[in-house]
Parts: sequence; structure tokens; C-alpha cells
Amino acid sequence: MTAITLNDVTKRFDDVTAVDSIDLTINDGEFLVLVGPSGCGKSTTLRLLSGLETVTEGAITANGRDLTDLAPKERNVAMVFQNYALYPHMTAKRNMTFGMKSAGDYTDEEIEQRVTEAAAILDIEDLLERKPKALSGGERQRVAIGRTLVRDPDYLLMDEPLSNLDAKLRIQMRAELSQLHDELETTTLYVTHDQTEAMTLGDRVAVMNEGQIQQIAEPQVLYDYPANQFVAEFIGSPAMNTLPVTVTDEGDHYVATSTSGDVKIQLPDTGDLEALVGEDLRLGIRPEDMEEDTGTDDSYVRTTVSVTEPLGDSMLLHGHVEGELLKFQIAARSALNPGDTVTFGVDSDRIHLFDAETGA
Ligand code: ADP
Repeated sequence: MTAITLNDVTKRFDDVTAVDSIDLTINDGEFLVLVGPSGCGKSTTLRLLSGLETVTEGAITANGRDLTDLAPKERNVAMVFQNYALYPHMTAKRNMTFGMKSAGDYTDEEIEQRVTEAAAILDIEDLLERKPKALSGGERQRVAIGRTLVRDPDYLLMDEPLSNLDAKLRIQMRAELSQLHDELETTTLYVTHDQTEAMTLGDRVAVMNEGQIQQIAEPQVLYDYPANQFVAEFIGSPAMNTLPVTVTDEGDHYVATSTSGDVKIQLPDTGDLEALVGEDLRLGIRPEDMEEDTGTDDSYVRTTVSVTEPLGDSMLLHGHVEGELLKFQIAARSALNPGDTVTFGVDSDRIHLFDAETGA
């Protein structure tokens, strides 16, 4: 039973602020994914939780116990890395038991029992006597996870653990990690730059950019209600389209229009639209929320198709509006070709408006 909290934590390396005043709680038994672009501070956050880095300001606690200044071995934390970090000259079993043996806190029988249990959970019983070079990438990663399981850590940290695997194996291991977590319910922080991995694995997902947490929420909430333009464009594939618009008061309703008139959207009445009139805004629309040939005089997105990308189950069209590339995900068997002009309808309940300057 362990909840981990970072309280106003900052980490600076000389003049680089890698982690900037973040507050984050990983609830007891939760699988929390920290996702963001390269260099945004994910690994540093994880290393602060492991004790491999020390915080510049702020505090880290586990169930209220202050971990801030504790060394890694005093935290009962386990880590799984991208490169597995297995000892090449040791068998899988020895790799799994080495940490426990050197800690000296366990009897041989306890160690044997834990390895047997972990190997059964991970389905690696037949691989225990092999050395890493005789294991596939997926098998090595299982051994690396097995090594953490035998220690029964209070919390588990995973840093891009699947990124060295090929695409197919990555998807398989993703499902296995989910199952494993459902079974063991170890409090886990999982770091990745891959939003699909984040969305499929996380009980909740924390989106990070430039050292700061942008939003923490369940995957579907991030997708439906992004807190700002960064989250909107980062979560979802293909990425959300955004383009500059202004809002005008049309008497009984409000509309958002682009300067060229190629985009006009009647806004759902949320009661707070007057404040947006005349502001520089960006309209966000997901490629999958536009439908071919359903535009009306009040609501439409008009463009000329520049590229068509067949995806099998659907088709992705590219077109430009206000000089910005927009993508439209439509039915696979659409007859549209490059050069065609097309009008899309938009489900106005699914559009987003952001401040053009701040992204909020
Ligand atoms: P991510 O894991 O999201 O790719 P990192 O946490 O590795 O990002 O890095 C965040 C920022 O901190 C980057 O600008 C990186 O260059 C910097 N940084 C990370 N570790 C160090 C270090 N040991 N010394 C100096 N700068 C570092």
C-alpha cells in the first residue's frame, strides 16, 4: 500500500530547469504514465523518484514518509530501463536473484520461492538458465521485469521499457504489462514519449512539457477535454488540427470564422462566449471529427485536397486552410482525389477553442 507524492519539486542542472515546480501523486496501486516530448523532464522526474538524482527544491513522500534525501536502496523502489541493464555473464535466474542475495535480507528458500513465482507470472520458467545473449528482446525485458518483481518493491519505475522492441512485440508486451499490473497492483510510474502507449497503459496519464505538468487525467478525459493546446495536439493520432479564428456575435448565436472564410463554425451555447468576441483564438478540430459533404451554411470547413493517404480502414486527406495544413480522416472508400474541393461538416460539440497566445 504505497502512494507516492511529489510536492512542488524542482530540479535544476546549472542553468537548465529540467523539472519545474511539479505536484504529482501516484495513487496506491495506480499505473500512472508520464508522457511528453523528448527533453521535457520525464526521465529526470523518474530519477528523482528513484533517488538517483537529488531534488533542488521540494519534497518526495511515500505514504507521508519523507523520501527526499534517502538513497535509492533505502526507498524499496525497483526500476526497469529501456536497455534492460541485465548482467551479460549471468543467467536469467542469477540476474533476478543477484540484488536479493547481495542485500542479504532473504534466505535461500525465500529467494527460490520468489523466483519461481515471478517466473510463473512472466512465463519465463524455461528460460531461467539462459544468459541474456540467448534471449530475444521481449524475453530479456521479461527477465528485467522479473528482477523487479522478486524484490516486491513499494513502487516501480519504468523508463521507456518497450522502446527497444520491434513494433509487434511492443504491442504484445504492452498488453502483458497491463495484465501484470492488474494482477500485482504495484504503484507504478511509467515514462514514455509515445502517446499511444500512454493512452493504452495508463490508469491516468500526466502530460509534461518544458519541465511542467500540463494536465493529469484519465486517457479519455485527456482526449475529450484537453486543458490546453499543447495537450490537444500531443494526445490523439493523427494530431488535432488547429487554426486561427475569431468569434463574432450573430445575434442569437456565436460563430468562429477564419479570415479567408474557409472555416465557419456555429458554436454550441456554453454561456461564456461573449468574452471570446474579438480575441485571437485557435480553433481545434480532430481529423476524425469532420465528415465529408455534410457542411451547412452555418458550419463548414472548406478545402482543396492536396494529398490522400489510404490507411486501410479509413483515408487521411491533407488540405490547407489559412496556410496551415489540416488533416481529415474519412471513409476508406471516398472517391476524393488531390485537386478536389470539398466541404466538411463538423460536430460543433467536439471543437475546442484556445487562446492563440497562451494556448490555454
Ligand atoms: P526526457 O526524459 O523528457 O527526454 P530529461 O529529463 O532527460 O528529458 O531531460 C530534461 C532536461 O534536462 C533536458 O534539457 C536535458 O538536457 C537536461 N538534463 C537531464 N539530465 C541532465 C544532466 N545530468 N545534466 C545536465 N542537464 C541534464
